[in-house]
Amino acid sequence: MAADKAKVLEEILQLDDDYDSEELDRLEEEAEEEMEKEIKQEKEAVHEQEVADEALRANGADALPASPASTEDAGEESYGPLDPEHVAQVLSDLREHGMIACLQKHIVPNPFIVAPLLLSLGVMLPRAILNELQDDPYKGLSLLKLVLTRILRKRRKLAEYNTVEDVLALVRKSKRIVVLSGAGISVSCGIPDFRSKDGIYSILAQENQYELDDPSDMFDKEVFLRDPSMFYSFAHAIYPSHYEPSPSHRFIKLLEEKGKLLRMYSQNIDTLEQKAGIQRVLQCHGSFATATCTDPSCRYQVDGAAIREAILSKNVPQCPKCTARRAKRSKREAKRQKVARGWTAESASEGEEELAYGIMKPDITFFGEKEVDLIMVMGTSLKVAPVADLLSHLPPHIPTVLINRTPITHMALDVMLLGDADCVVAYLCDKLDWTLSHAPAPIPEPLRVASSHVHQFPGAEGGWYVEALLEEEDG
Ligand SMILES: [Zn+2]
Repeated sequence: MAADKAKVLEEILQLDDDYDSEELDRLEEEAEEEMEKEIKQEKEAVHEQEVADEALRANGADALPASPASTEDAGEESYGPLDPEHVAQVLSDLREHGMIACLQKHIVPNPFIVAPLLLSLGVMLPRAILNELQDDPYKGLSLLKLVLTRILRKRRKLAEYNTVEDVLALVRKSKRIVVLSGAGISVSCGIPDFRSKDGIYSILAQENQYELDDPSDMFDKEVFLRDPSMFYSFAHAIYPSHYEPSPSHRFIKLLEEKGKLLRMYSQNIDTLEQKAGIQRVLQCHGSFATATCTDPSCRYQVDGAAIREAILSKNVPQCPKCTARRAKRSKREAKRQKVARGWTAESASEGEEELAYGIMKPDITFFGEKEVDLIMVMGTSLKVAPVADLLSHLPPHIPTVLINRTPITHMALDVMLLGDADCVVAYLCDKLDWTLSHAPAPIPEPLRVASSHVHQFPGAEGGWYVEALLEEEDG
């Protein structure tokens, strides 16, 4: 019998997944709506009861018995959550022995734990699905498999790295460091960042002169194609014409010089990486370093310097090739118009003219890399794709260090060095005996938050996260 079940299980596992990630999201949404509806109905029932009680009281019935619990889930099955130790055992087997071994050990002998396990893992499911699972728990298998796959992909904090000494030791011994960087390493250069309260997006939102649903639409390709003048009306403000690299850029250059930098993934478009001389850099959101014609049939590419003048004078840079082509064509049109009277000038401007083809636009690059021995996240809170997605694609055993003013709480990082990136790297370089040019004044010893993996340098904004860590330690 058990052997039969194992066979069934294996067959099921070899099936294509019935559910994809989006469908799971949809199911959870449906369950959430269902729950909200139930809560609302319950509240209404309670309210009705209160109104009724009030009416009775008004009629002189003073000593009312306590109203009974409003709604009872009579007849509806309720899965109690699994014992936390049981869940922990399942997850530990999953991580150590893999998906199939885990399912064989835990599900095959007791398929009816599929639904309670899903609920214990925090997955909300619509009642219809839960009822289905009660009749046939194997129907929940591909769902469970998807949930477990998600858990496997999620990074867990590595217990062995916690202190600044650990970071120094990692930097000393690592030879393939990946740096993920964001606006935080360019702020000290005078370049406005995008997301902070004085950042570009909030300025755009305040000025409200562009009629954007979301200020980040300023970097949306379609929005650009509809009206490139919008982008070029503010591009001069972020164009890197007179900025110098920060100590953080120079630190990353040092990593490269010492043969430790595998790759820098930058979210910045300021090209200060190039100015600092960093070779192994990919600008994930593109940069002003090159520009390409928006006409898919042209794709003419130029060096960033070619559109510099246009950007600084807030003009929309035209593609020279497309411009030449258009000039020829309009000559032809003019000739044709002479021949065929009645044509209006407008009749020539249709089709592609609606989208801004033939405009030069700064380029976007993508990336993918493995074989990493240390990840340093610098000056970014990792909320923006594609850099944000990179961590989940790298093997979870790679130690990950954050250097940023604010902590990252939506994923597990091993050591967090909170503060101005420039201060933190100056401190690290001092300890590593590396000479950092333009280093800020000597940096005081960081303060460790309780006995945690979080350390505060000048400029740290630990917020509720640090408070919670302190409370945890007290309690
Ligand atoms: Zn072109």
